[in-house]
Amino acid sequence: MSIKEKHSDLIKAEALRLGFLSCGISKADFLAEEAPRLEKWLRNNANGEMQYMENHFDKRLDPRLLVDDAKSVISLTLNYYPEEQQTSDTFKISKYAYGQDYHHVIKGKLKQLQEFISEEIGEVGGRAFVDSAPVLDKAWAAKSGLGWIGKHSNLLTQKTGSFYFIAELIVDLDLTYDHPVTDHCGTCTACIDACPTQAIVQPYVVDGSKCISYFTIELKNEIPQEFQGKFDDWAFGCDVCQDVCPWNRFSKPHQEPLFNPHPDLLSLTKKDWEEITEDVFRKVFQKSAVKRTKFSGLKRNIDFLK
Ligand code: SF4
Ligand code: SF4
Repeated sequence: MSIKEKHSDLIKAEALRLGFLSCGISKADFLAEEAPRLEKWLRNNANGEMQYMENHFDKRLDPRLLVDDAKSVISLTLNYYPEEQQTSDTFKISKYAYGQDYHHVIKGKLKQLQEFISEEIGEVGGRAFVDSAPVLDKAWAAKSGLGWIGKHSNLLTQKTGSFYFIAELIVDLDLTYDHPVTDHCGTCTACIDACPTQAIVQPYVVDGSKCISYFTIELKNEIPQEFQGKFDDWAFGCDVCQDVCPWNRFSKPHQEPLFNPHPDLLSLTKKDWEEITEDVFRKVFQKSAVKRTKFSGLKRNIDFLK
């Protein structure tokens, strides 16, 4: 076994020990296939007000511009599929936001992985990224064999579905590289057919500016009236395209206590949501990613659903 193989195996084993669902590795290189796709997506204004998507265009496509002497991109996934879910007759928040903000949880684990690498392998330079501006995380995860990018544009696998976060460590260490897996969407169009706002404009292309996740989380202004009545009770994010995906029948509950919801969250009725006060908001979403919308943003979303 070569030293690169040995290091790669060590890193992957430690990632799983830390609770990551999967770990795959790619050479830190220019994302040649993604470049024209990203350019077209931006040209069609599919990023809506998500200005940050236009920034760092070159860095997004080449990790060597982000991290000095970058050699490898280590992609990791972390399951967030909850054991218990909200009932169907209430205003809904995306499952990824039930528990504590994933940024903190994942950063903690990535730090541990970096420490492990330093201890076991030696001085390795690198940077950790969690859903942070300039990394095309799904593209790297797919390149590293952690799943394929489905028609709903999320990463998924046959065994674990798609309810997981993606993060990366970009390091200046040569490792052995994984290969993409086969796309198993086949003739299925369940996600396209079920999307409440027809945001999946063609297979594999989501118009971000029509997506409920964008409206309820990213959009700062009023939600356009033409979408009134189309949100299917989603108040923060939207899981419809993932909920209907046949491969998510195989999702298994996560084992991360920090992702468990606040005890009051699952029992909130529509009436509770409509009457939510800032105090309740602070209590229930104290450490959750829902805080991103602030109280005023969540209120705007709920008022839009009434
Ligand atoms: S998250 Fe919801 S609105 Fe966005 S593409 Fe999926 S189903 Fe459509
Ligand atoms: S719902 Fe069907 S088309 Fe959509 S991602 Fe899942 S398998 Fe692919």
